[in-house]
Amino acid sequence: MLVTRSQTGPARPACFAAASLALIGAVALVATSPSRSAAQSDPAAEQSTSVVILIGDGMGPVQRAAFQYKLYGKHERQPIDDFDHFGVLRTHAKGGGIATDSAASATAMATGVKTKRNYAGVGPDGKPRETLLEIADKLGKSTAIVEDNDVTNATLAGFAAHHDDRDHKRIIAKQYLRKTKPDLILGGGEEVWYPKGHPGKVPDMIEDDASYGTENLVAEAKRRGYEYAWDRKSFSRLEGPKALAMTRTDAILRGVFIRKYNYKNDPYAVPEHEMVAKALEIMSDDPEGFFMAIDVDEIDDAGHEHSPRLLFRSGAEINRIATVLKRYQRDHPNTLVIVTADHETGGLGIETHYQLGGAGVFGVANSPEHFRLDWTTPGHTAVPVPVTSSGPGSARLEGVRDNTRVFDVAKKVLEGETGRR
Ligand SMILES: [Zn+2]
Repeated sequence: MLVTRSQTGPARPACFAAASLALIGAVALVATSPSRSAAQSDPAAEQSTSVVILIGDGMGPVQRAAFQYKLYGKHERQPIDDFDHFGVLRTHAKGGGIATDSAASATAMATGVKTKRNYAGVGPDGKPRETLLEIADKLGKSTAIVEDNDVTNATLAGFAAHHDDRDHKRIIAKQYLRKTKPDLILGGGEEVWYPKGHPGKVPDMIEDDASYGTENLVAEAKRRGYEYAWDRKSFSRLEGPKALAMTRTDAILRGVFIRKYNYKNDPYAVPEHEMVAKALEIMSDDPEGFFMAIDVDEIDDAGHEHSPRLLFRSGAEINRIATVLKRYQRDHPNTLVIVTADHETGGLGIETHYQLGGAGVFGVANSPEHFRLDWTTPGHTAVPVPVTSSGPGSARLEGVRDNTRVFDVAKKVLEGETGRR
């Protein structure tokens, strides 16, 4: 395994200690200066807790190791591993084979209940279970889901919907708007939201699925107070507190179908780390704190398709997201940040470069050495997944655990527990 205990031991990084000192200083100042403005002196604002769960979809230990070697080399630690605590999560679903799907695994993390495959936000009996997102909402916190692909996909549905079929995307979208109501819904998949025959805003790469229905859910979202973004320009204008962004899916398809496609030149593609930064910017205004679930789905696609190009592109992006989160956490130490996965995809292995077979040979960054990638299955595996974390409660994510542990720890933090254990 790539990350050792010594790399992710409990020692607080200097920046964390500095932020804590600054916080103590601020509190001391408040105590002696009662005339300061509410924004500067509200200790509740300083103490309210937030939780962010960053899910690399299909990101097992070997995917993390491959990102490390290819993008950072043997010595510089990649951002997703650069957290205080390290553990391992078992991902199996309830029955039906040892390897889970995203819906069951996300539901285990979101609700603390192991469920059946394809079930999102419901227990094995099909009944809704309260999710971390709903708990946060009840506590008056802001909530967000952020996705690099279709925002109604199974992983985020596990956090923000209650339905026993992950493929009923339109039902999931309606539940977002009418039941669970995340303040920020940032991702892609506009064809799920527009009615049959409506061209939407984003130029299509493939024909929209016209079977989704007749209601215009984008119009409904606007009526319910959501700002709406469909490209970089409209995205940059989002101010919140509620927003729906459809700024991903067709961009991903363009990346697949157009040779030499470059996200940077695509007006309809907002990089996911910018979406996360925007969500933090909007939600940091909430004195009660927030909950955010983020999914990087492209890692799972890479595992299903055995595509090194997708693998390394998504690896670079999840590390950019981790960098954004770490920067935020430095200034907001009451934020628990968890980086993990729903399951492993593809049964990836790293081999010495002169071994035969596999999906290609890749250079180790800042080194003359090389390695070979080899996938063993087009499906999901039951390999336990790493979890790295910092912030309140993070020490309790050490060790070998079931993925339901994420719920247990995150719930306590949302409810205000600020100790590290
Ligand atoms: Zn998958």
